[in-house]
Amino acid sequence: MELPHRKKGRHTIKQKRKKHLISEFSSIGQRLMNEHLIGGNFGNMSIRIGKGFCITPTGSFLNDPKSVVYVPLHGDVPKQASSEYRVHRDIYTKTDAQAIVHVHPPYAVSASLLSNSKSFTPIDSEGKMFAPTIPIVTGEPGTQDLAASVSDALMHAPSCIAAGHGTFSIGETLEKAYLLSSLIEHSCTVLMLTGTIQSHKA
Ligand SMILES: [Zn+2]
Repeated sequence: MELPHRKKGRHTIKQKRKKHLISEFSSIGQRLMNEHLIGGNFGNMSIRIGKGFCITPTGSFLNDPKSVVYVPLHGDVPKQASSEYRVHRDIYTKTDAQAIVHVHPPYAVSASLLSNSKSFTPIDSEGKMFAPTIPIVTGEPGTQDLAASVSDALMHAPSCIAAGHGTFSIGETLEKAYLLSSLIEHSCTVLMLTGTIQSHKA
């Protein structure tokens, strides 16, 4: 793997690598949009590279991010980076995640608002197998609070829901983090459609 190199004191990544990353982000971003896991220019994705990670730019469309921004685990963060870079940085620091997908899936967000529990237990077969516990955490978007609670939760589970906001999923590859995001939304849809969430609250 090509590592980032320093140019005039700033981290950059080589053009070829950048092109490849943009193409990978675009293809996963298109899947996220096709499945309505995200809309508009919300959400973000990143891939670990060397002692940092490449993340989608702030305000970009995930199916057409146009560029990627390299963020070191320590040090200055370029202002073009997604506003949720803090969460990504803490996750890469505390876990061995190689990629992260953050989206706003409607059923997962709704379920987190309806429930008082600190986690969901999927009842569908895939959920039981691949994400038997889905932690629900708190923290305002873009804050260090959110970064701390999400990264703590992902030390023990591959995906979590920030209440009223969205999911953060990790994986060995971007595709695996995406598949998990899809799986979590499916599990939450089943929990909602079967009325299981309401019964948890009562
Ligand atoms: Zn978000």
